[in-house]
Amino acid sequence: MNVWNIVDSSLVNEDREYQENRKAKDSWWPSEALGCRRRAYYDLTIGRDQGKAMDILGLYRTKAGNVLHSWFFAAVANSGAFDWVEEEWAFRTPVDGLEMPVSGRQDVRGQLKGSSTVTVIDLKTSFGQNIRNIRQAGWRAIHPHYLGQMLCYLAFGSADEVILAFLGRDDQYRCQFTLTLDDDGRVVVDGNRSRVSVESVVGRWQDAEKALQEKNAPERDFRAAIRDGEIVRFFQRQGKKFASDWQCRYCPYNEHCWADDLAKYRSGVNQEAFNDV
Ligand code: SF4
Repeated sequence: MNVWNIVDSSLVNEDREYQENRKAKDSWWPSEALGCRRRAYYDLTIGRDQGKAMDILGLYRTKAGNVLHSWFFAAVANSGAFDWVEEEWAFRTPVDGLEMPVSGRQDVRGQLKGSSTVTVIDLKTSFGQNIRNIRQAGWRAIHPHYLGQMLCYLAFGSADEVILAFLGRDDQYRCQFTLTLDDDGRVVVDGNRSRVSVESVVGRWQDAEKALQEKNAPERDFRAAIRDGEIVRFFQRQGKKFASDWQCRYCPYNEHCWADDLAKYRSGVNQEAFNDV
């Protein structure tokens, strides 16, 4: 008996079942605020059915993250720190200027004892350079993608503040930031104004909705490095490194999106795609 074959199959089957039961996309999700407009376009047109399934390493990575999240949120929700607390709170909010509402789910939200505000708790786990950057540069190293997600909880998910916690999976580094929205709709992190705003998030979604009406795939927001017909983490040329954005590496549509370059650079690298960098 090979136990890993059994576990691999169980993960693959679980993912297949999840994908089969997903309903068609009919709202914007916090996780795609500041995401790739073209990916959103593909979600709404060719659909995830035609995207690639996640590979086995990705499934393990996701499972490990989910297990950590469940444990973390149970510990927070059962801590007794709240006057009231809710888990898995779902929202669906119409937004001026957008065809589709914004919908999402907050893992834990509640009123901390003695507080009059609604606080959402969110966790991000990471490792390697990502978590070292947070350790060294603090709030400035928080990826805008995460700030966009938290902005949706604040602007469209009726939260007054978000406590965003980070955990290093390799070094167990732990820290947290408190996020609010200012009067201009900008995310403020521990008193510091970030560049992420309601305007920037809604504007991107408006672009994607316009592209959909015009049936025209938007420009790519991210880039894939291609070597010998494959999307790779990076390649080097003339002492310079050309790296794929992680958004492209993990995008289920990457082969569809980059089909022309994958064919063109069956041998060689797509350095030209980086010309304007
Ligand atoms: S492959 Fe990259 S550019 Fe293309 S849709 Fe996906 S994230 Fe966007």
